[in-house]
Amino acid sequence: MQRIDEEDKGKMLCFTCLGIVRYYTGLRRHQKYECGMERQFQCPHCPYKARQKIHLKNHIGLKHLNLCSEEKL
Ligand SMILES: [Zn+2]
Ligand SMILES: [Zn+2]
Repeated sequence: MQRIDEEDKGKMLCFTCLGIVRYYTGLRRHQKYECGMERQFQCPHCPYKARQKIHLKNHIGLKHLNLCSEEKL
């Protein structure tokens, strides 16, 4: 049972690392201080690697667990 953060309003997707970031200001901070760091969390379903565990959780939730409720892009 996977759970994505309940408060998903205002979330941004960082297209550099495909991580979910809270709010636009958080995205800028993320890209300045966090993005680009070595990714160490390997997705068990695809070659995606996340820098933070929460990013991997979000990725799995978005890419691998929500396919039944959303059309594949
Ligand atoms: Zn990023
Ligand atoms: Zn994946």
